[in-house]
Amino acid sequence: QKFTSIKNDYCLTFSHLSEITQTEDDTNISKNVFHFTKLSEVSNIGAGKIIDLIGVVTSVGDVNSISLKDGRQKDKIDYEIADNSIDGGMRVTVSIWGTKATSKKFSVGQIIAIKDLKISTFKGVSLNGGDNSFLCDATQLKLKESSELQSWYRTAKDHVNDINSLTEGNQASGTPSLRNVRLIKEIEENSNDDLATDPTVRYYINARVELVRNDSKMVYMACPSCKKKMTEEDTSASTYRCEKCGMSTSNPVPTYIITVKFTDGTGSIWTRIYGDNALPIMGNTKPEEVHKMFANDSEESNVEIRNFLNSLNFKEFSVMVKPSINSYNGQESLNYHGSNVKTYKPEKSNHFLLQRLSLFEAPKA
Ligand SMILES: [Zn+2]
Repeated sequence: QKFTSIKNDYCLTFSHLSEITQTEDDTNISKNVFHFTKLSEVSNIGAGKIIDLIGVVTSVGDVNSISLKDGRQKDKIDYEIADNSIDGGMRVTVSIWGTKATSKKFSVGQIIAIKDLKISTFKGVSLNGGDNSFLCDATQLKLKESSELQSWYRTAKDHVNDINSLTEGNQASGTPSLRNVRLIKEIEENSNDDLATDPTVRYYINARVELVRNDSKMVYMACPSCKKKMTEEDTSASTYRCEKCGMSTSNPVPTYIITVKFTDGTGSIWTRIYGDNALPIMGNTKPEEVHKMFANDSEESNVEIRNFLNSLNFKEFSVMVKPSINSYNGQESLNYHGSNVKTYKPEKSNHFLLQRLSLFEAPKA
């Protein structure tokens, strides 16, 4: 059984004595029998294994022609497919290759059943189907799974982006996946090694603001066209100059660059957060207001700033953290850049923790 994807206990072997004759189909042998695997179980099964999946299409990519190692071209289409195997749902990227990528296209909201998908564990979990896979509209099969999924999706469709993803690398939407939600201690311990194998590595943390650094440079004046930092040119006329664009303006864009210390009880981490990403942490206070507080530079305004920054502490956020190594005077240091800052949702993060625990279970034989 180790070397086959077919889930039968016995097999027949033909020898040179076997005789094969064609008989009429009496329809007693059923066609396309599915043995569905729930998405919550997929990460315990392991790479290379074959599963059948039923789920709702939550996004459809374009058909792309991919160059293979041997020089051939193959069409590929990515679907994102979700099921209700855990509260809040679960989704995965399913890549369909070859003729099946173009022969039939499914759309968002359709319940589909796919036979013979291979599990890949590169960058989280994804599923791949080829010419041997069978895809169909599951509502035609009249299965209880498809009606359950249909009623689940009626409410789930309004918050598709909150559905937990098994597949990593969906950075555009900033969706955390099971394998990159981390405790701060884990990030501190693994960043160097992770960066060595994947320079684009990103983590997600659920953490509290311990401190927003009191820094008069936490708001800078950005160039309206290139967003680079502008230098004050003429204090009396309050004009700013962008060296890159070579232009001056009296209307630069006040922009945050804040330094925040996060803690989650396992450790703490300093992050830099730029631009609008800082807004939730700054209590949605506009950068121009903070800039004004610093510009006053009086005893009262210093107290005001201190009180304001203190009021930001202890709030909880989910943050995407990207590590990078910076060299300065021959010294290498690890820096963290935060983005995708969202208000922390305890229910959601508890799901992640429970699901991550399940990743440590021994794979089923
Ligand atoms: Zn510029």
